[in-house]
Amino acid sequence: KYRNFYEMVEHNAKHRPKETVLLVDERKVDHLRLKQKVDTFARFLEFSSIKNGDKVALIIANSEEFIVSFLAVTKIGAVAVPLNTFLKREEFEYILSDAQAKLLICSPEFAGETSGLLEATPVEKIVWTGHYDKLDERNYSFVEITGSMETHEQLAKAPKLDDLACIIYTSGTTGKPKGAMLSYRNMLSNMVSADEVFQITAKDRFIVYLPMFHSFTLTVMVLLPLYAGSSMVLIKSVFPFSNVMKQTLLKRVTIFLGVPTIYNALLKAKIPWYFLWFNKVRLFISGSAPLSEHALQAFNQRFKRATLLEGYGLSECSPAVAVNRSQKQKPLSVGPALPGYEVKIVSEEMMELPLREVGEIIVKGDCVMKGYYNRPDATDETIVNGWLRTGDLGKMDAEGFLYIVDRKKDLIISKGINIYPREIEEVLYKFEGIDACAVIGVKDESNDEEVLAFIQLKEEVESIPEIKLKQYLKSHLANFKVPKHIYTVEELPKNATGKVLKRVLKEHVLSGKF
Ligand code: ATP
Repeated sequence: KYRNFYEMVEHNAKHRPKETVLLVDERKVDHLRLKQKVDTFARFLEFSSIKNGDKVALIIANSEEFIVSFLAVTKIGAVAVPLNTFLKREEFEYILSDAQAKLLICSPEFAGETSGLLEATPVEKIVWTGHYDKLDERNYSFVEITGSMETHEQLAKAPKLDDLACIIYTSGTTGKPKGAMLSYRNMLSNMVSADEVFQITAKDRFIVYLPMFHSFTLTVMVLLPLYAGSSMVLIKSVFPFSNVMKQTLLKRVTIFLGVPTIYNALLKAKIPWYFLWFNKVRLFISGSAPLSEHALQAFNQRFKRATLLEGYGLSECSPAVAVNRSQKQKPLSVGPALPGYEVKIVSEEMMELPLREVGEIIVKGDCVMKGYYNRPDATDETIVNGWLRTGDLGKMDAEGFLYIVDRKKDLIISKGINIYPREIEEVLYKFEGIDACAVIGVKDESNDEEVLAFIQLKEEVESIPEIKLKQYLKSHLANFKVPKHIYTVEELPKNATGKVLKRVLKEHVLSGKF
């Protein structure tokens, strides 16, 4: 249907010019106005000598400016590099240099953390998306640029399907960030598949409250609505959570995508009866991290009008790979592959394994990235004969439903036996009083891995005696899987989308913090 993102914007502006596309606080933006803003900013980019293939980085909080910037950059065939806004200065420096970013579009609230980057990186200019009082020949104001509404003949050729659209740096939960290069074909294929499964229409309304720089948010919460001509409610942050619920209700959101921490928060929140009765959500989807069976069941019991469906993806696959369907879902499964994609479970030697056997998940299809930017070695290790090695362990049932067992890197090998942390975490989640947990393996003196658990208690619970918890675990798990130590922590370390950073927990243990 489309060859690039701008064609979606153009199509909507032509066929539904006055329909709302963005709802930001009390403000509404229609499709035509969005196109005009994109055009004006694209013109500025061209006059700033940004050319086809140049990298333009975005350090922007959730906002209309993010969307306009992303669409304008890709309109002229430049490559958008959305950065995690939670990073610190050195991390920004690393990515901007690695990506060879020529221009940076930045929210003023990150001025402190981005200071000095013009000197330390290839970035030549910064465009500030809000008020910034040190404007000069290298610091521009977004508002002034997009304020004027002159039209212009586009200089650059429209990008084609296989051109590079975007580089997403993986969040680094397991190491130094690598830039996953995604083409228009990669990202659009995700939208086509999601649309086919969920039949998104122009009447649907999404809510965007997770950070837009994340591939999950960017493809299926921001670009998918544009693809389908739907609208989206923009919220800067997930906090306060009551606001997400309020906006969902008042603005009649129909599609609510989130991560497990959000659904756990929804379970804990005091939800007024009228929310349960009057919300218009037809689809709740969870992705990005494992959703516990306990949370899924509790959620579906509480929200009877729409079921919560779990899906699976990774930045390298643009990101969606598999999802449960409303017609049929299985707890603990992330559902069958999306239409057009193939998923297999293989051994270390890439030999396909029989059903229900645990092995590495590999993916083939248009969603598979072009490779890692500037990292041919890592690319060759990750994409083998067109199959992307996900680094995740899983199994498949006879109906093609995929089960994520764990990350390969999180697998614990104790006395030669494989232990999957997720299995232990699932048991811990069922214990009354545990709010969140994480199980890791850490090498002991004999160089064998021992199992350690970290638990975060529910607010109303003061403590859980370790003996009681171990007894419970022993009655549900083989002895070798029962954690040697269980530590209660105030809060588990998490990344911007609420994924537990097991690497940080391991570092804490190794540095003697526990
Ligand atoms: P890095 O690539 O540096 O490790 P990251 O893991 O945060 O960072 P993402 O692409 O954001 O990078 O996350 C993809 C990963 O998230 C998957 O490989 C998988 O391990 C995990 N994941 C996604 N969805 C699910 C799910 N439904 N259940 C379990 N794990 C999931």
